[in-house]
Amino acid sequence: MQVPLRYGGTAMSALDFALAAEELARADINLPTTLLATGLGLQPILRFGTDEQRRRFLPDFVTDGSRLAAFAFTEVTGGANFDCPDPSAGVQTVARLDGDSWVINDQKHYTTNGSGWDGCGAHCITVVCRTDPTRPPQESLAVIVVPGSTPGVQVIDVLDTVGHRAVNSPRIHFENVRVPAGNLPGPHDDGLEIVATTFSWTAALIGAACVGVMRAAFDCALAFAKTDKRSGTVPVIEHQNVGFMLVDIEMRIEAARYLTWKSCHHFEATGTRNRELAIMTKVYASELCVQVVYDSMRLVGIDSCTDMFPLAGLMQDALCFPLYDGGNMGVRRRQLHALFRRADYDGMAAAEGR
Ligand SMILES: Cc1cc2nc3c(=O)[nH]c(=O)nc-3n(C[C@H](O)[C@H](O)[C@H](O)COP(=O)(O)OP(=O)(O)OC[C@H]3O[C@@H](n4cnc5c(N)ncnc54)[C@H](O)[C@@H]3O)c2cc1C
Repeated sequence: MQVPLRYGGTAMSALDFALAAEELARADINLPTTLLATGLGLQPILRFGTDEQRRRFLPDFVTDGSRLAAFAFTEVTGGANFDCPDPSAGVQTVARLDGDSWVINDQKHYTTNGSGWDGCGAHCITVVCRTDPTRPPQESLAVIVVPGSTPGVQVIDVLDTVGHRAVNSPRIHFENVRVPAGNLPGPHDDGLEIVATTFSWTAALIGAACVGVMRAAFDCALAFAKTDKRSGTVPVIEHQNVGFMLVDIEMRIEAARYLTWKSCHHFEATGTRNRELAIMTKVYASELCVQVVYDSMRLVGIDSCTDMFPLAGLMQDALCFPLYDGGNMGVRRRQLHALFRRADYDGMAAAEGR
């Protein structure tokens, strides 16, 4: 549905995706995360690919809706310093041009969907790498499209995460993986731009995933409060502290929902140029989600940390939000900090639709 009309898709907007993602995440986080990761993997082609590359890679995702894409960004040693200007740091996955092919070597972690359905590799993996290890990422970062079935793509194992447990988080080794030189979307000094744009699209949408999980927690707490008396004489919602907590939870969910809608719309309305709101949505909604699930647990009390309620599982899923998709400390707040330091920073740009 995200594929443009001219390649057979229905060109779903980020805002439409957010509406669907909230509903799906309300029921279970794993399915929308799998869809989001396919969108993440395809973003470099969708937004930076040539017409020829889009024709080559996208239509299969329209005709076969079960196809999985993946974005291989995170290195074994993390992702926060991927763009460190020192050439010896940052992304160490290297692609060397050999004749008319790129040859890729190194290892990636947390490549969601990367193993495909059958453990043999996703249909399409976009790999963040350096085309010259002696030059800084600003001059050498690239994203290369690799069909998961290419010889040398090895799915080593799957990381065991505390939440998002049905999201597939594999470790993938690339050993002399050879793909055509034409698999590189955009000129290769665009790598930083491709990564920033790709992760801004997800940043806005993660707001919707957080809202879905918060809704699940609220619905659970509200139903408990209205029906359970806890050995008392009245349902616990009759106690003022319980009612006030429910009010606070629901207000926060509404605020996060509208911020998500605005940031999804704004990101695309500005041609992906304004990323501030998307990044703020990711930081704000993810941390709010942890707080809201915790408050719902406080409201329900001790039974919330057992399997009598879904809240402990929701907390496991919520804890992932501030940490993944560029952790809020190592990546997201730094992105905002860098924006604020710019001489041309305009704090009203997003509010005024610029
Ligand atoms: C369910 C799930 C799905 C994921 N999907 C994908 C995926 O599809 N593709 C993918 O590539 N990755 C994926 N990831 C990984 C995720 O995107 C990571 O958030 C990202 O790679 C960065 O990790 P990090 O922020 O913890 O950085 P790290 O580099 O691991 O840094 C760890 C910590 O060190 C500190 N730190 C490091 N450097 C700095 C600095 N310069 N300034 C300040 N603090 C610093 C911060 O406290 C930071 O939190 C996934 C993870 C999970 C759990």
